[in-house]
Amino acid sequence: MAKKKVKVGNDVFTVLLTEQQIQKRIRALARTISKDYRRTTPIMLCILNGAVFFYGDLLRNLSIESEVAFLSLSSYGSKKHSSGKVKLKSPLPRVLRHRDVIVVEDIVDSGNTLDYLEKALRKLKVRSQCVVSLLYKHENTKRRKYLKYVGFNIPSDFVIGYGLDIAQKCRTLRDIYRLDNSKS
Ligand code: 5GP
Ligand code: MG
Repeated sequence: MAKKKVKVGNDVFTVLLTEQQIQKRIRALARTISKDYRRTTPIMLCILNGAVFFYGDLLRNLSIESEVAFLSLSSYGSKKHSSGKVKLKSPLPRVLRHRDVIVVEDIVDSGNTLDYLEKALRKLKVRSQCVVSLLYKHENTKRRKYLKYVGFNIPSDFVIGYGLDIAQKCRTLRDIYRLDNSKS
């Protein structure tokens, strides 16, 4: 059972999505992606660190062959708001060239990360690209056409759990929690 509230310092978080809701939605996303990509073997590009659990669960639910690749990016630092600057912490894997790439993200907030990646992948000459994001803060930015699959549309509040951290903490919570006192 999900804990109803989680306290981190002075911040109180309340359950937004339970493990059961998350897993059910991931199975549905995996079915859709498996159908759409049945004629090809996509490379699934995991955006570290936040997407790590979503990535594992999504890939194991795919009924098609897929290959793995990883990319370390950061835009949040240790704050609760996006810095706006996307930093590549490792080079873009060359194996993505001429392949069908599915970027696996934890959450889309300002959309800066998506825009940055879209350009970088285009420059690398991938065959096709799209993004699957578990969460999308739909009030914050207009939906990009390459954001093809979304798990949940959520409000703009800061969220943690299931890979998402607050200053590197709380990633291993199985449920997703939203900040109650969203002043900070
Ligand atoms: P964007 O570039 O779309 O503003 O944000 C991209 C990254 O910021 C996400 O991949 C995620 O790592 C981080 N991020 C955005 N919103 C949240 C949030 O509510 N909680 C946490 N922990 N990270 C977030
Ligand atoms: Mg991310």
